[in-house]
Amino acid sequence: MPELPEVETVRRGLDVRLVGRTILAVDVGRDRTVRRTSAAAVIDGLTGATILDTRRRGKYLLLGLDTGDDVMIHLRMSGRVLLHPMGEPRPPHTHVAARLSGEPAEELRFVDPRTFGEVVVFDPANVAVEIPDLARLGVDPITDGMSRATLARIVRGRARALKALLLDQHVIAGIGNIYCDEILHAARLRPDRISNTLTPREITRLHAEIHRVLVEAIELGGSTLADTQYVDVDGNGGQFQLNHRVYDRAGQRCITCGRSDVVRIPWAGRSTHFCPRCQR
Ligand SMILES: [Zn+2]
Repeated sequence: MPELPEVETVRRGLDVRLVGRTILAVDVGRDRTVRRTSAAAVIDGLTGATILDTRRRGKYLLLGLDTGDDVMIHLRMSGRVLLHPMGEPRPPHTHVAARLSGEPAEELRFVDPRTFGEVVVFDPANVAVEIPDLARLGVDPITDGMSRATLARIVRGRARALKALLLDQHVIAGIGNIYCDEILHAARLRPDRISNTLTPREITRLHAEIHRVLVEAIELGGSTLADTQYVDVDGNGGQFQLNHRVYDRAGQRCITCGRSDVVRIPWAGRSTHFCPRCQR
């Protein structure tokens, strides 16, 4: 599932090519993608609107419109946001397509084989009612520039396993399974370590590694795995998967210490990967 670095890569790709352009026409191919409102609401909300800016909170991509509305796009498992030349045939599973003004003649396409993703046009003044999960998001490490003091308050105020805490979107927004495992490895902390037992030095390390791992991943265009659909707006994969140290490396020698194998344990229906020698 795309996480903060992948959604941020998509946002940056859109920002340079979308801002200032007007949406001329919209097709909605599948109601499930617009389930939060309706096809008519998305078509009416987008048609004729000019895109003013692009933003991101956690894994939510937002486009500001000159109508006062915002567009929320959530990729979930397999969503892709692509910018294609007008003449190019739409790929299978294109559920929303928006023709753009200006040159080159392009179409913004939301493609989503598994259809968990969403496109919503909403009034930001009513976000708590229209998209409560967006309104309840916690601090975004990149957008909000989460300080060490903020992280210290978060970890000291709770007695939760670090893995669960970092994955809780209502506490810190944008980190999913891949980056959680990579951040905890880089910070040398076990995923089942209880948050309020961290020393000040460990909090400093965790804070630094959250920022370092996410920033590096954004610079490399995110992670594209064999089993995921993630690509940027031009259809290119990311490169950060080449830097993964523990994620999906169970049974292989830890490349940090070279003296223990990476372990995988089940975690809330998914997996967590760590090195029992490096992480305490
Ligand atoms: Zn190790």
